[in-house]
Amino acid sequence: MNDIHTPARHIAIVGAGQAGLLLGCALLDRGHQVTIVTNRSAEEIRAGKVMSSQFIFDPALQIERDWGMNQWEADCPKTAGISVSIPTPDGTGNKAVHWHARLDAYGQSVDQRVKMPGWMSEFTRRGGELRIENVGIPELESLAAQHELVLLAGGKGEIVNLFGRNEARSPVRQPMRQLALSYVTGMKRHDYYECVNFNLIPGVGEYFVFPALTTKGENGTQACDIMVFEGVPGGPMDTWGEATTPEQHLEKSLDILKTFVPWEYERSRDCQLTDANGILAGRITPTVRNAVLTLPSGRKVMGLGDAILVNDPITGQGSNNATKSARHYLEAILARGARAFDESWMNATFDALYEGYAEKVVRWTNSLLFPPAEHVIKLLGAAQQAPGLARRIANGFNDPRDYAEYWFDAASAERLIDSEMKKAA
Ligand SMILES: Cc1cc2nc3c(=O)[nH]c(=O)nc-3n(C[C@H](O)[C@H](O)[C@H](O)COP(=O)(O)OP(=O)(O)OC[C@H]3O[C@@H](n4cnc5c(N)ncnc54)[C@H](O)[C@@H]3O)c2cc1C
Repeated sequence: MNDIHTPARHIAIVGAGQAGLLLGCALLDRGHQVTIVTNRSAEEIRAGKVMSSQFIFDPALQIERDWGMNQWEADCPKTAGISVSIPTPDGTGNKAVHWHARLDAYGQSVDQRVKMPGWMSEFTRRGGELRIENVGIPELESLAAQHELVLLAGGKGEIVNLFGRNEARSPVRQPMRQLALSYVTGMKRHDYYECVNFNLIPGVGEYFVFPALTTKGENGTQACDIMVFEGVPGGPMDTWGEATTPEQHLEKSLDILKTFVPWEYERSRDCQLTDANGILAGRITPTVRNAVLTLPSGRKVMGLGDAILVNDPITGQGSNNATKSARHYLEAILARGARAFDESWMNATFDALYEGYAEKVVRWTNSLLFPPAEHVIKLLGAAQQAPGLARRIANGFNDPRDYAEYWFDAASAERLIDSEMKKAA
């Protein structure tokens, strides 16, 4: 509920995704008036293609729980750990590195085709106004004239290019991976707890796979596994253009597994696609944009989520960032009381998020897009003998700021390896 000293603010959000719907619902709960304008209806989302693999780690899941937005938690498979495998370079299909470690608490992935329609209903149930409309500059002008704050959370929609690219914060200038997703059923379980299974194939790319909850029929849900392919551009995993039908897409997925990660092929060979829309292929340029857009009228619009902070999915942080950004913005909006949401507040709010959190996520994520430094290979190898190190690396996914302690320089990595090896001896 709203604090008695704080008037209800009138806030518009463009985009009904992870960031926009979460923040919208949380603001409504605190007595503010929120309009969300988005360009796809719940029915269109549900009947459309998958958009993401949307794996969310516990700290971000906790935000959803705190805000009463964890409607699928009981039904969704729980993923308890992280595994890392690296094949030997000789092409024999053996593993040079393999370990698995438990996360402090489980993570989950709920297909956005299930989650966003559900959250849209929740948003209107809480009293929000939801409009289906494609937003361009004229619509932003009209929203800005009628609201005290307009947040543009348009994800990867064209419109977000209106925010200028922040060159200093965006060192990677082109897509570094060809991405593809296959949502499947029928995968065999391995003989340890459920993991996000990372397979790093030097020079070729990465393959990761984990359980999720997806759509079934018109309104049902079912458990599935999501295969995520990250191919080095021009390499042997960058051949999705050849797959023009869902069947060919699945066939290509299995071919890649058979060639590069045969242990994953063995448990996937009988898989079927969840549905014809359970596939995706694309590329992303990792980009941090400026937080504020000035409209022709001079009015200001602030960015939220992927609109201004988009990473390659290689570390599975985008939905996590969007969720943590929603909490950060909520706290900043509440702390603002009755004062205007001016440009300096907008910039200060995003800068605090970036400098206090996101910068380290961006740095770690970008580091994985380039051939790994020798000390990183050593870290991943040593984790096989040192369970404490494996746990530390795995739990960094919860809050990647921890990697700043040891990931980026050889001396810190060596110190950590030494101390964890002694503990394991
Ligand atoms: C292949 C792939 C795999 C991924 N895997 C993971 C993962 O495992 N874990 C993870 O944390 N993240 C992952 N991500 C990233 C994650 O999906 C995004 O970071 C997250 O969805 C961003 O949330 P958002 O609210 O900012 O944007 P979105 O969820 O994309 O929402 C944007 C909204 O804006 C609307 N919109 C767009 N343009 C307009 C317009 N002009 N007018 C009105 N509405 C508009 C859209 O319809 C949508 O509702 C992955 C991404 C990809 C591509």
